[in-house]
Amino acid sequence: MLKKNGKGYVGLCPFHEDTNPSLSVNTQKNLWQCFSCGTGGDIIRFVELMDKVAFPVAVKKLDDSMHSKESYLYLTRSPDKTNKTNTANGTNR
Ligand SMILES: [Zn+2]
Repeated sequence: MLKKNGKGYVGLCPFHEDTNPSLSVNTQKNLWQCFSCGTGGDIIRFVELMDKVAFPVAVKKLDDSMHSKESYLYLTRSPDKTNKTNTANGTNR
């Protein structure tokens, strides 16, 4: 879970065994970086790495959540091995 922190968010890095929140998200620059393992990039890069998908797929995935302007909440998702197509939980009207 990401926590709001001044200019952005901080949270546990999903790309290494993180016990201390080292993942920092800058929502103004649309960048994120883990200070422990050094992984970083933009939000699309995050989805690429997280879901192990190609760039266009990551863009498409983000498109679904982007309209809520809370696309960074995507970062709070835990790695999902079963690649579900689209889980619209709750907001299905
Ligand atoms: Zn890390």
